[in-house]
Amino acid sequence: MRNILITCLFFISAFIVPIRAQQVVILGSGPSGLTAAIYASRAGLTTLVLEGNEPGGQIALSYMVENFPGFPQGISGFELVNNMREQALRFGTEIHTAHVVSVDLSKRPFILMLEDGNSIFADTLIIASGASAKWLGLETEQALIGKGVGSCAVCDGILFKGKEVYVVGGGDTALEDALFLAKYASRVHVVHRRDALKASKYLQERAFTHPKIHFVWNSVVVDIADPVQGKVTGVTLQNVVTGESEFRSCQGVFIAIGFKPNTDIFAGQLELTDEGLLLTQGHTTQTSVPGVFAAGDVADPHYRQAITAAGTGCMAGIDAYHFIQEFD
Ligand SMILES: Cc1cc2nc3c(=O)[nH]c(=O)nc-3n(C[C@H](O)[C@H](O)[C@H](O)COP(=O)(O)OP(=O)(O)OC[C@H]3O[C@@H](n4cnc5c(N)ncnc54)[C@H](O)[C@@H]3O)c2cc1C
Repeated sequence: MRNILITCLFFISAFIVPIRAQQVVILGSGPSGLTAAIYASRAGLTTLVLEGNEPGGQIALSYMVENFPGFPQGISGFELVNNMREQALRFGTEIHTAHVVSVDLSKRPFILMLEDGNSIFADTLIIASGASAKWLGLETEQALIGKGVGSCAVCDGILFKGKEVYVVGGGDTALEDALFLAKYASRVHVVHRRDALKASKYLQERAFTHPKIHFVWNSVVVDIADPVQGKVTGVTLQNVVTGESEFRSCQGVFIAIGFKPNTDIFAGQLELTDEGLLLTQGHTTQTSVPGVFAAGDVADPHYRQAITAAGTGCMAGIDAYHFIQEFD
């Protein structure tokens, strides 16, 4: 009888007792999440990073990062973020490969439900879940990300000196990318599915008069070569009016059809901007719920760089520390 009772208690507790209660839980293991972890754990707070389905975040996809201060020769994105990870571990951060599927932020401690069915309790939460570039969804595109296919012209443009590149999109981002790439590339082709752009007039004028920028109207990219060679060698374009396809050789393809912040699980619990970004207060990382902070691309409408993500990650680590000092 006693054994049955103990077994029952064990099973009941497994369901109702959280597997972990931490002072700081960080959702995301990109530059913002790991920098927040370095600051929080170095300040002596128990800190847990839930790294999600993309350990290291977007920067881990970058073949070479040349604009992160401190690395005059550049550094691979994977190595950069791995260094951050090691630094966080050195100060006692725990890192779990876990994806959060829902949250309850109605009271503290906050509850995070994981994909594997477990729950985590958090005194403070730092959301560093980033933003995902919208991709075309082609298999060949996915296979060549970081190998000639990119979504960040400011990051990778310099790697295309003297090369021919295609930019997909018709909004401000596409034209800003095209103008930036034109500093380095020999020719830049903007592929747009319609016959008119939705980008601002100012950008349109600059792009239309730029000698290196050319437009391919009413067209979509239907394939990118060549995953077998592990690099971009060309694109197949299809005209959406005539249905005709043609192959054009090039060395780079930039997808500029927008970004989607990873904030779906916070809808209805935290204030979001019209673009779906987390809203923060003044020059802090505080969200609309006290004790919940946001850092990096998930709250960034403009910059979306590794260094700005790390910068706001630092702010979130410090904000969480002050919050705990004040309220606990
Ligand atoms: C191909 C490429 C090249 C780039 N090159 C450069 C460059 O050269 N220089 C530069 O400065 N910037 C570059 N960038 C931009 C830079 O990578 C981003 O600005 C930066 O990574 C943002 O960091 P972040 O920490 O805010 O979010 P992210 O890096 O997007 O990380 C988000 C993290 O959140 C996790 N996550 C998301 N949802 C959940 C969830 N529900 N539960 C748990 N975890 C979750 C993910 O697994 C991931 O670990 C590049 C981006 C790309 C895509």
